[in-house]
Amino acid sequence: MAEYDIVVVGSGIAGLSSAHQLADQGRVLVVDRGAVGQGTSSRASGVITTPVDYPDLPKWASRAIDSFRELDGRGVFTFDEQPFIRLVHSPAYAAMVRGRDDAVMLGPEESMARFGDVVSSPGAEGVAVYDNVGTCDVSAFLATLKFECERRGVDFRPDTTVTGVRVEDGRVVGVDTEYGPIDADDVVVAAGSATPDVVAEHVELPIRPFTWNAVYLDVDGDVTNWPMGGDTEHQLYWRTMPTGDLLVGRENQTFDADPKIDADFERLVDEDLSTFFAFDDFDVVRWETCPIPDATTPDARAIIDAPAAAPEGLVVAAGFHGAGVMAGLAIGDIVRSYVTGEAVDLEVEAFALDRFSDLGRDFPFCSLWD
Ligand SMILES: Cc1cc2nc3c(=O)[nH]c(=O)nc-3n(C[C@H](O)[C@H](O)[C@H](O)COP(=O)(O)OP(=O)(O)OC[C@H]3O[C@@H](n4cnc5c(N)ncnc54)[C@H](O)[C@@H]3O)c2cc1C
Repeated sequence: MAEYDIVVVGSGIAGLSSAHQLADQGRVLVVDRGAVGQGTSSRASGVITTPVDYPDLPKWASRAIDSFRELDGRGVFTFDEQPFIRLVHSPAYAAMVRGRDDAVMLGPEESMARFGDVVSSPGAEGVAVYDNVGTCDVSAFLATLKFECERRGVDFRPDTTVTGVRVEDGRVVGVDTEYGPIDADDVVVAAGSATPDVVAEHVELPIRPFTWNAVYLDVDGDVTNWPMGGDTEHQLYWRTMPTGDLLVGRENQTFDADPKIDADFERLVDEDLSTFFAFDDFDVVRWETCPIPDATTPDARAIIDAPAAAPEGLVVAAGFHGAGVMAGLAIGDIVRSYVTGEAVDLEVEAFALDRFSDLGRDFPFCSLWD
């Protein structure tokens, strides 16, 4: 008998969500090369806007948001429900919002009446307001997920690098680590941007690293009641932090081992932000470059699959671009369905590997805003 029924490689949101949803399936072990939850997930801004970022996947979005409500109040975790506004510049996006039952379009005056002055000029079509969204403290979220996994009997092995997946006769039999093998009947690889390397001997994955830049601003004015928001023209998002600072973030298409703030983002902050937002002035509290890469795919959407070309018993969950933490327990639901064979009422095909014909890692960057 194998030492474990399931080994999960990686303890970011994808690994913790998978372990949480698989905990009743026998002996489950989560292995991470570092400390638990200290990968890219630990750097997330806590913007939980799944319906905004997955507009075409209503079941996934709603399950994800519900999972934050499910965990609210457990341990140190709270889910703070607050609206997100998106400036709308195209009639097509406005029409899409009008067809939804979880968002409304507001004209500039209605927006001003509800939120006051946030931006100096709302989008040409007005703003889309999403209410089924919120924010959270990501450290508290990950710590609570780990605690909930442990409470369900999941084991953790930090500071242990997995070097490959072991396969015999076309079936997974465990993983190799820097300290030797670990036997398992099923293996879930949720190792963020390192996932393609961990499974490279068995299956190709079109996943590559990129990163995000963020800046924390001390604003001349009170932003504590501002809604979260985003703007496609400037390709940025914002949220007010519990400290009262305004966090503004933006994609940076490449990842460098010595990460620097993208010059275009720096210019945007220096030259445009005080004309874009409705405040007179601000001081930069700090810039943040993430030293750990986020992972993306050719369509900026994750791969959650037991690929046909992979050995039996291998599931991968990675490439969540900027929208992994907000996916919550929905990730684990799909992983569970592959491991157990149980059906799940989510848009599983949207995350299947076979949507890509080219599996190379050298693909053009697809923005979350596209
Ligand atoms: C600055 C920033 C802001 C963001 N803001 C948000 C946000 O507001 N909302 C949101 O939803 N998303 C946000 N994201 C995106 C989000 O952080 C990612 O989508 C998510 O963290 C990906 O989770 P993951 O579990 O796939 O990867 P990770 O969190 O990176 O987890 C992978 C784990 O695998 C481990 N690992 C890697 N290789 C090995 C190996 N060989 N052996 C063992 N372990 C290994 C790593 O140590 C790591 O712990 C943001 C990202 C950044 C960088």
